[in-house]
Parts: sequence; C-alpha cells; structure tokens
Amino acid sequence: MNRSAITLTEVLVVMSIIALLAATAMGTFGSVRNYCRTTACIANTRSLAQAMAVYESSAGRFAPMFTLKKWRDANPRNKNLNQQPLTSNYWYETIDAQASCPARKIASPKNCTPADYGLNACISGQSDRPLKAAQLTTPARTFLLADAGFAGIAWQNASTFADAPPGLEPSYVPGLKINAKKLLRSDAKFDAVNGRHCNSMVAAAFADCHSESISAASFEVKASQPLTSLWRAN
Ligand SMILES: [Zn+2]
Repeated sequence: MNRSAITLTEVLVVMSIIALLAATAMGTFGSVRNYCRTTACIANTRSLAQAMAVYESSAGRFAPMFTLKKWRDANPRNKNLNQQPLTSNYWYETIDAQASCPARKIASPKNCTPADYGLNACISGQSDRPLKAAQLTTPARTFLLADAGFAGIAWQNASTFADAPPGLEPSYVPGLKINAKKLLRSDAKFDAVNGRHCNSMVAAAFADCHSESISAASFEVKASQPLTSLWRAN
C-alpha cells in the first residue's frame, strides 16, 4: 500500500472538519448580525423617544398618532379625522425619514402607514388628545414607542380578547404568539408571527427616554386583568 496517497477516508474527514468549521463560522456571523440589528434597533427607538421628548417640551404634550396627513390620505376610512397643522406628519416623518428596524420583515407595506415603530396609544391617543409628560406616573416603565407593524400600537392589538368588532387589525407587536390567531394584513403576517429580533424580543423606548430590548410576551394584555404599567400611561 502506498502510504503517501490520500485515502478516501482522510478526504472525508478533512471535508467534515471544513464543513464543521464553516457551520460554526456561519452561526457566529449570524449571531453577530442579529446582535448588531438589535443594537441598532434599540438605538433607533432611543433616538425617536428623544425626538418625541423634544416635541413634548415645546408643544406641551406628546405628538398624537392619528392626525397625520399621510396616514389620513393612505386609507379612505381615515378621511374624516381632523388634522392638526401643529402636529401634522411629525411622527410619521420622524419614523420613515430617520429610522427603520433593520430586522423588519415586511416586504412591501400597502394601504397603511408603513411603520417600523408604533407609538403607545395610551400615551398618544387615537385622535387629538395625547398626554403630557407630567401626567405619566411610571415613565421608566411605560413604553413610548416600540417595534410595531403600524405607526400606532394600541393595547387591543396585544390582547387575547376583542374589544372592538372583529376585523383587520392594522398593528401588532412582532413575535407576539397571539398574532397567529389574529386577522392581520397579508404582507405583515410573516413579520407579526415570526417576529423581528431573536427570541421574540422587541426594541422599546420608554417615556423617560431609556431604551431596551423586552420580550414580545410582556406586551400581552389578558382579559379581565388591568393594563400593566408597560401600557398604562397614568
Ligand atoms: Zn426592531
């Protein structure tokens, strides 16, 4: 037997080792990529919260969600909502012009405000009655904005029971388990059900302007239980 020849077994062993090393490297790269995306997303939410705080200090209240011209024009159902020039487009343009969730999985948002982040409706209201910062009793525990599938996120979007007539829900918390049972936009379903960040974590900025990664499950609102401090503004 010629000892200098490379046997098939040796080739297979080398190939296995290379494959193992490649898989390990790929996994590491994937982890680093996910870590970077999460870090960037948390930084985005912090920046947006700081912008909202600047707005609040000058306007005397947080910016409302649904008095935005682009949002109103995006859907015929919104035509009757009042538009307030003072706040027109502020939140929408802050989101879309300056920050996108790097892990978002919506391919082509249609017929809605293509948001990466949603304002907490308990703070910003659904029309023209947003709160003042001074009205918040737990600003460090109440989120101001978070990863969401719409420019606003209401607690009903994270509830296990219907507070409104059944129908298409515009918003959601990415990765929340109950999303699988909800009627969501078809282009948003994958983002909603699979989540964006690892382990169904969600980037959120709080009313005191700190930002962190929290579990999607922590947003869930259960029937007959009071709203948690995460949602409750005052
Ligand atoms: Zn994100």
